[in-house]
Amino acid sequence: MIQEPGLQLDDRQRAMLEAMHIKVWQPPARSVAVTASPPASSTDAIKSIAIDAYSTGAESIKDSVKPSKTIPVATRQPATLPTALSAATGLMQRPDGIDHMDWTQLEAAVSGCRACALCESRKNTVFGVGQVPASPGLAPQVDWMIVGEAPGENEDLRGEPFVGQAGKLLDNMLRAIGLDRHHNVYIANVLKCRPPANRNPEPHEVAQCAPYLQRQIELLQPKVILAMGRFAIQSLLQTTEPVGKLRGRAHQYHGVPVIATYHPAYLLRNLPDKAKAWADLCLAVDVMRRSVKS
Ligand code: URA
Repeated sequence: MIQEPGLQLDDRQRAMLEAMHIKVWQPPARSVAVTASPPASSTDAIKSIAIDAYSTGAESIKDSVKPSKTIPVATRQPATLPTALSAATGLMQRPDGIDHMDWTQLEAAVSGCRACALCESRKNTVFGVGQVPASPGLAPQVDWMIVGEAPGENEDLRGEPFVGQAGKLLDNMLRAIGLDRHHNVYIANVLKCRPPANRNPEPHEVAQCAPYLQRQIELLQPKVILAMGRFAIQSLLQTTEPVGKLRGRAHQYHGVPVIATYHPAYLLRNLPDKAKAWADLCLAVDVMRRSVKS
């Protein structure tokens, strides 16, 4: 444990120490409220852009000003040493206090996570991609969040979600509603590490990773979540219903509307269902419009 009275550590250094599981003693935390004004760019509109398969039915959507958010942020919690889950495998418990972490701490916790065996085979963790935060520690100010399943090979190599063929389709879908992956949207996955050979996520891996996604959503406070594919939908909505049964209406995740749609990789194999995915995007735009008005 580091317990140095005169030692001054900045936020990044603390986050790095936490990620390396080095305990730093601190006085008990107090809660404070931070009012964050959005960067000018986050006030931009969702515009309709007609492109290939997503061009039909696109409508113009008026620019809307996003109100500033009051985000409850806890001052730093004392870090706790993760307990070894197994000396043989080197797996460790997830760090404590995820539900109090700020964006920087959360990102560091994910990159140091050894809570399941996926850490053994990953090249990179994949935290997410999106609008750049206005300042260090703050989450990006976004209205939209996309939740996918898990990194594949390309994502594992690059440390960024949806960079393969499915990602290209996702980018086109976003463009069709006036978004791009660096503007007013945040893209994350249920799993932050790649399952070997692109196998499906195991339930215990989803369970280990869920608190990270939950904290991302709490900090981002998106106005709508587009959940893509079975794993994203079922893990956010805690259901075993198939995607087809969950499409077409807004669900809720901790008060945030969730629209269920097909995974882009599925759409690449099932082209006729692109029309349904387009309908889902239109529904999401509609939900967003209503939430901006209210
Ligand atoms: N599929 C996903 O669900 N997420 C990615 O990041 C890439 C492919």
